[in-house]
Amino acid sequence: MPQRTFSIVKPDAVRKGYTGAILAEIDKAGFRIVAVRKQSISKPQAEGFYYVHKERPFFNDLCTFMSSGPLVLLVLEKDNAIADLRGLMGATNPANAEEGTIRKKFAGSIQENAIHGSDGEDTAAFEIGYWFAGYELL
Ligand code: ATP
Ligand code: MG
Repeated sequence: MPQRTFSIVKPDAVRKGYTGAILAEIDKAGFRIVAVRKQSISKPQAEGFYYVHKERPFFNDLCTFMSSGPLVLLVLEKDNAIADLRGLMGATNPANAEEGTIRKKFAGSIQENAIHGSDGEDTAAFEIGYWFAGYELL
């Protein structure tokens, strides 16, 4: 069975009108959309999602940013989805992102970096379950 990963088109990219272009990159790379939902999230919801980063200095700003406007929650599927999405995204800091990656094209800063992708099987399972019920995965 192909692997599933979790992704977010972050509020900066939605605000700038890049949602369609980013979804097109994801589509072109061969991912199947299992679930998709545009919504705003509260700061406590962001804090729960990013709890692994709660001791990091950027945690509060990150959660304020993630709750600053609508975003797009995605569950994506393909063979090797987790690693392939991380490759498509590029480095966390867009200044270091490889040519052709989503962050190189669409990210503005290390914080406002356009897209999220799960970094492992355990985090993918946690993140999918955090935002979607089983019956929404189609
Ligand atoms: P993501 O988890 O969003 O896919 P990532 O795995 O590349 O990104 P992480 O180290 O998990 O990066 O950091 C989570 C998010 O926190 C980053 O995407 C970015 O928005 C923000 N972030 C990370 N490092 C910094 C930093 N030094 N300053 C400000 N924000 C940061
Ligand atoms: Mg991460």
